Amino acid sequence: MAYRKFRGTKLFTGKSWAPQDSVLITQSNGQVEAIVSIAEAGDDIQPVDGIISPGFINAHCHLELSHMAGKIPPQTGMIPFLLNVMNHRQAAIEAIQEASYQTDQQMHLEGIVAVGDICNTLHSLETKKSSRLNYHSFVEVSGFIGATAQNRFEQARTVWEKFREIGPASITPHAPYSVSPELFQLINDFDPGTLLSMHNQESEAENDFFISGQSPLRDLFTSIGVNIDFFQAPGITSLQAVLPHLNKAAKLILVHNVVTSPDDLAFLQQQPINETFFCVCPGANQYINQSMPPGFLLKSQLDKIVIGTDSLASNYQLSITEELKLLAGCYPEIPLEHLLQWATLNGAKALNMDSHLGSFEKGKTPGVIALNDWKVTRLL
Ligand SMILES: [Zn+2]
Repeated sequence: MAYRKFRGTKLFTGKSWAPQDSVLITQSNGQVEAIVSIAEAGDDIQPVDGIISPGFINAHCHLELSHMAGKIPPQTGMIPFLLNVMNHRQAAIEAIQEASYQTDQQMHLEGIVAVGDICNTLHSLETKKSSRLNYHSFVEVSGFIGATAQNRFEQARTVWEKFREIGPASITPHAPYSVSPELFQLINDFDPGTLLSMHNQESEAENDFFISGQSPLRDLFTSIGVNIDFFQAPGITSLQAVLPHLNKAAKLILVHNVVTSPDDLAFLQQQPINETFFCVCPGANQYINQSMPPGFLLKSQLDKIVIGTDSLASNYQLSITEELKLLAGCYPEIPLEHLLQWATLNGAKALNMDSHLGSFEKGKTPGVIALNDWKVTRLL
């Protein structure tokens, strides 16, 4: 059997550094065979300039928004951003599908092997059918008016039925401020024990909407012609207000968490959801609000942080490497092996893909990449 053998400047396993002078051995199809010392590795070792790592996991993306690249102005703040995205959704379907396809190819080159992808439509379906990447499709539903809940949910279910034919898929809420209690209940009851994802606490406006009721989010609803005069702010943060609606999920990926507090974390730890991951998307936070995910969260949740690029509507590229570079620039005290664990093994666990992705354990096919000066080369 033909083996591939790689020796880089360092070898990251998905969880930690392998001993210096380790060699990664895979089968020709990329299946991991072993990590051995150079003395045991034999001949034909391929020298690699850079750190060798398992392929990256992009835990939060919107492939179907790829055609918005360069169209949404940066640093407008949350509400203008959301309105801009809504206005740009009406593009020609061929253009949307072509941009999805090109972005999928680009993510492959960037060393990404799996994606947690938000879908509101079927526009990314054809790309996913032929992709080399592994996708979990989160079919997203929103609607703040309770009377529309059943109708919105049925529309999402139609989309979900198509995506689940080609891979893992779930019906997932958009955000605390855009989903009614009735709609949350339909989502919660639909598939107990599933994996869910939700945008969470991306800006102060979201918390203010739930704490005081005074928030620019009210202007967003006015702009789109939705009367929310009935809404009474519960006086607690958005996360605390809606988490009890999601008590049947086995796993939840909360995305952004820019204004999540230690109190929110303590509240979350008392909830019956078995496992929560925190997806950080610093590139999108910078693009929209010039903000960053909070240091306390990054430093206290080593095994629960995952990395997302968000979409080309709110980022200059979909590159996990660029996200890690931003985090390293803002928090230089965070060790590189933590950043790499978030981008590999943690992401695979969050997306239920750690049986074959995320680390160099025998039998897995996690992809092999080299990272050198924040540039990725794909080795397998
Ligand atoms: Zn998003």
